[in-house]
Amino acid sequence: AKSSDDQQICLYDKGMDDTIRKRRQLVDELRLAIQGDQLELHYQVQMNVPNETVAGYEALVRWNHPTKGMLPPNVFIPLAEQTGLIVMLGEWVLRTACHEAASWSSGLPVSVNLSPAQLTTPNFVEQVQDILLESGLAPQRLELEVTETTFIADQKKAISVLERLKALGISISVDDFGTGYSSLAMLRAFPFDKIKLDKSLIDDIDNNYKSKGVFRAVLSLGDALSVPILAEGVENKEQLAFLLEHGCQLVQGYYYGKPEPFSAPGKVTFVEPDK
Ligand code: C2E
Ligand code: CA
Ligand code: CA
Ligand code: CA
Repeated sequence: AKSSDDQQICLYDKGMDDTIRKRRQLVDELRLAIQGDQLELHYQVQMNVPNETVAGYEALVRWNHPTKGMLPPNVFIPLAEQTGLIVMLGEWVLRTACHEAASWSSGLPVSVNLSPAQLTTPNFVEQVQDILLESGLAPQRLELEVTETTFIADQKKAISVLERLKALGISISVDDFGTGYSSLAMLRAFPFDKIKLDKSLIDDIDNNYKSKGVFRAVLSLGDALSVPILAEGVENKEQLAFLLEHGCQLVQGYYYGKPEPFSAPGKVTFVEPDK
């Protein structure tokens, strides 16, 4: 029995080594990817449904890995956050999104996701200001998306940074509202311009009366706070009909379009879906 135990421990250790080694390699590759030319932004349309107009686009980062192909952010964003690489990655995303959006002929706003560590980076506001200046993007066209995690570490600092960003003309959205990452206390404490309802809230709205109830309640909350609400992850007509019936006008989801690269600078590739 003893020898087989030893063997198991041995195998286990080797597995650990492998995991750590692979992780370390991925971190090294990610650093090169950020500095090199391997990251790209895809954009997902946000619709104002009653007007049938495009309200803006959310920038979502992808890693075009030399051997593994196009990697989605859930594969590398957590790693970037754990290793501090997120500060460099986030700056790349912000700069690229501002430069690309500045070239859109539509003049529509762009939404950029912020990780908690970015907001508390020294001189973050100055960095944003510099990027706006160099890209020529009007601050009114930039929206920054934050989650509650952003405020846990240093609430005072986070509030002051947000207020300075807002003073520049940038708007702030609460992302993933309705998950553990955004709460009512947060809504009370911070001046937001938009609430984005997480996909999980809409997922089973078709066949679950409780989900419908929660959704209606959140919409009236937005109403009470005079903050527009955007529903994320809308995939079908039934969900859309429910949202419209309850006065939710802003929608983002596969129903209207998946995130995709802009084929050429300034060229909006968004196509109206079949009604
Ligand atoms: P998120 O900010 O909540 O972005 C929405 C995610 O939902 C995107 O996944 C989008 O492709 C997906 N989605 C949108 N509509 C639908 C739908 O109708 N059905 C389904 N099944 N999915 C839909 P993506 O691009 O894989 O991004 C995942 C997460 O990674 C984002 O969630 C965000 O938290 C993070 N992320 C992406 N880009 C960045 C970035 O530049 N910086 C930071 N810090 N985080 C990012
Ligand atoms: Ca987002
Ligand atoms: Ca979200
Ligand atoms: Ca999410």
